[in-house]
Amino acid sequence: MAGLAHLGVGLAAKRIAPQIPVGCLVLGAYALDVVWCAFAAAGLEQYPKAGVVGTPAVWDHSLFMAAVWSVLAGLVAAWIGRKTRIGVVFGLVVFSHWVVDFITHPMTAVFPPDTGLPLWFHGSPLVGLGLYRHMFGVYAGEFGTLALGTTVYILARRRLKRMSAQAAALPVSEQGRHECL
Ligand SMILES: [Zn+2]
Repeated sequence: MAGLAHLGVGLAAKRIAPQIPVGCLVLGAYALDVVWCAFAAAGLEQYPKAGVVGTPAVWDHSLFMAAVWSVLAGLVAAWIGRKTRIGVVFGLVVFSHWVVDFITHPMTAVFPPDTGLPLWFHGSPLVGLGLYRHMFGVYAGEFGTLALGTTVYILARRRLKRMSAQAAALPVSEQGRHECL
């Protein structure tokens, strides 16, 4: 749950997925947290509390379930977008959430009871590189990723505008050829 870092990744994904609306990419980058909220509302997931033994977020933030949700999201995106590539890229964006969380958890600088991410279900090892164990890591991870992602997004938008302007300037017969490439 590295709030701004996921936003940065969602924005940056526009560079490799120009066909997918940026809102969908950002939602994809947060998808595992959305699943967590739904499961928490249903009573399946709980916030880890100090002194309470138990593996948190196994249904959405374990490596195994993150992979399952990513594949499912990718299949839905491929079906909606009617392209395998769209599904693969969207699935990777959803899985990026786990990668970012793996780098940042346990984030004890902002959430002391955090024990890391489970690999699969209850009783499995808890993992994480712990970048957010220190406030410096929190600021660098959150604002650094957001700044980088925003920059990549702005450059990707400019590139798309340039390409569509070039395509519009081509004769009609060439435009058809361009779309096939
Ligand atoms: Zn999360």
